[in-house]
Amino acid sequence: LGGIVKEPPMHIVHVAVEMAPIAKVGGLGDVVTSLSRAVQDLNHNVDIILPKYDCLNLSNVKDLQFNRSFPWGGVEIKVWHGKVEGLSVYFLEPQNGFFWRGCIYGCNNDGERFGFFSHSALEFLLQSGFHPDIIHCHDWSSAPVTWLYKDHYTHYGLSKARIVFTIHNLEFGAQLIGKAMAYADKATTVSQTYSKEVSRNPVIAPHLHKFHGILNGIDPDIWDPYNNKFIPVPYTPENVVEGKRAAKEALQQRLNLKKADLPLVGIITRLTHQKGIHLIKHAIWRSLERNGQVVLLGSAPDPRIQNDFVNLANQLHSSHADRARLVLSYDEPLSHLIYAGADFILVPSIFEPCGLTQLTAMRYGSIPVVRKTGGLYDTVFDVDHDKVRAQAQGLEPNGFNFDGADSAGVDYALNRAISAWYDGREWFNSLCKRVMEQDWSWNKPALDYLELYHAARK
Ligand code: ADP
Repeated sequence: LGGIVKEPPMHIVHVAVEMAPIAKVGGLGDVVTSLSRAVQDLNHNVDIILPKYDCLNLSNVKDLQFNRSFPWGGVEIKVWHGKVEGLSVYFLEPQNGFFWRGCIYGCNNDGERFGFFSHSALEFLLQSGFHPDIIHCHDWSSAPVTWLYKDHYTHYGLSKARIVFTIHNLEFGAQLIGKAMAYADKATTVSQTYSKEVSRNPVIAPHLHKFHGILNGIDPDIWDPYNNKFIPVPYTPENVVEGKRAAKEALQQRLNLKKADLPLVGIITRLTHQKGIHLIKHAIWRSLERNGQVVLLGSAPDPRIQNDFVNLANQLHSSHADRARLVLSYDEPLSHLIYAGADFILVPSIFEPCGLTQLTAMRYGSIPVVRKTGGLYDTVFDVDHDKVRAQAQGLEPNGFNFDGADSAGVDYALNRAISAWYDGREWFNSLCKRVMEQDWSWNKPALDYLELYHAARK
């Protein structure tokens, strides 16, 4: 690996439709930013091409400037350049209004909008004379880059680029993903176990020779309990108990919960079938039965599910006003306070390609309670059952997990977790310290990506 780090810098261009913190819907947005920062820190050149949504969070874009404009497909495309979290970002703004819809996804022609974006991103690279080594695209939304490049651009001076395609979630747009798998030089998904789980899927199976599982990391500077304006007392593993106590009190105060020393279970999630909605609901009731507190921060793209949770919130806010709070919106600052103030972060997903919430939880010294699937299986090692499996990774156990997708499974993990909190606070506090000390950053995975980028160029 030392050899790779010393090789001449590569130029990597990401074509993506999400980027934290300016246009984030889920983990894809986090990964585009944090992987890019990690690779840039290893002295490579990284650019990101993103649609210029009208709903971009522009306060996080520095030095935004008009760059150029070019015609494509009968439409004028204005290009803007700015810096986001220290990364160079080109924003494409087609004047047909495709990205003036007040949202990222959820317009009835998302396929058409992002197909157009993918094509105009390649056209932009060509017209501005860029010669990237790697063009990295993500999920169905920038999948068309793979075949548009191979069919239309290899002869036009962009020829040296190799195409890397990452699947963040196979559930979305599988037809497009199959075609991208065929055209990409290398393909990845976001954990080893998920790569095995999807390996028999007909869109993946023919391409296993170029398909790799590389775990996502989190950005330790973006998620930093020692340097964080959203939490009251900065903390490291050394003062984790004090830091988390202050954060819990601030969270209880902010959400109008009883200020008491009770086990607090946090849930931060999109509310979709994937995330195990029935298990989430069950866990809320179980935590309350065990005299715990529960905070859920989540939003549902499906209005029926949103409605269902609004009803549950009304019910809980009257039956358990001082111990349960459901916040049914997207709220990044509040998420930081929950990661810090919770004792446990619950992630009972039915499937989970990687999952970032359990990693962020550990960074903040919260104990993950997860279902054993995908990246959750690869990153959470049960204190009672997974010592050997953890040690094979050079780690100590760091959480609680369960099999199955029924309430008995959740109970099994959650009851042990809450009992551990009640029965041995010293042991529990040492577990919080231990999980904080584990490294779930991009340190290792970024090197795996560099190795993959190099292999793509051979
Ligand atoms: P997915 O990409 O499937 O949504 P991940 O675990 O990979 O799941 O990433 C979810 C990311 O979105 C995490 O950074 C999490 O903190 C954040 N998140 C999810 N729901 C919310 C919410 N309601 N408010 C703030 N952040 C949220």
